[in-house]
Amino acid sequence: MTATTNITTKPLTGRVAVVTGASSGIGEACAEHLAQLGARVAVLARRADRLDELVARIGKNGGTAVAIAVDVTDAAAAHAAAGRVAAELGGADLLFNNAGVMLPAPIEELAVDQWQHQIDLNITGLMNVIGAFIPQLVTAAGESGVADLINTSSIAAQNIFPNFAVYAATKAYVTHLSRHLRVELGAKHVRVSAIEPGIVATELQSHVTDEGALQWLAGSRETTEWLTAQDLAETVGFIAALPPRANIQQLTIMPTGQPS
Ligand code: NDP
Repeated sequence: MTATTNITTKPLTGRVAVVTGASSGIGEACAEHLAQLGARVAVLARRADRLDELVARIGKNGGTAVAIAVDVTDAAAAHAAAGRVAAELGGADLLFNNAGVMLPAPIEELAVDQWQHQIDLNITGLMNVIGAFIPQLVTAAGESGVADLINTSSIAAQNIFPNFAVYAATKAYVTHLSRHLRVELGAKHVRVSAIEPGIVATELQSHVTDEGALQWLAGSRETTEWLTAQDLAETVGFIAALPPRANIQQLTIMPTGQPS
């Protein structure tokens, strides 16, 4: 293989990616795809066994990955994870900030534990990871001219879904934060993107306990072919492989048959 071919087929060669929520769904598929595109990858989530299997699979396919079991709602643990990425991979220049949970329920049920869980992970966890890795992204961008912070939001950030208010509000936070950070960090060559997917077939739906939401999801699944985690992985790979001058600010990806 010539060097030119290598660059063409593996556009992320030389880059170091951190993927949160990598033990299942979108994060897992994304970690594998970024490794296929040439990046060395640190995979973060709580389930160490799942991360170890993923790292082994990436290695078997010729890639390099490091498993870091971490609860991202713990700021100190997120900072320790960043320390390991610096020590073992030389620092990140791509952060896919993706761990999240969706727990719909009518607001009058006062499911305060579920409200708090979503806020703790989708907002505080996301911020803990940004806080831990932003110095690495800025340093990398200063040295190489580009770094990426890609946050997983949702179409729920824009659209109205009854009983999804708290989840949707956490994702509105993610999209709005991303737009602000893009302006703040663009001058330092750090691109910031928010991805807003419609329904993707992952473990996300398996955590839902609300009967109404379960019925809505079941109905949707019967009539609509949902996105796959691989569809999202290819989207993230596309964003990261663009020339440094091009920053996808916000990207909505829907199942073709999902109306809103
Ligand atoms: P999954 O449930 O498959 O993935 C969620 C990931 O987050 C898992 O790897 C889980 O790993 C990790 N996670 C959960 N809690 C923590 C924690 N405290 N610390 C670290 N990691 C944690 O769902 P998806 O892949 O679908 O979700 C990924 C993102 O996509 C989420 O932000 C979600 O809101 C968003 N999204 C999903 C859509 C869908 O339809 N699936 C649509 C729109 C957006 P572990 O349990 O091992 O910690």
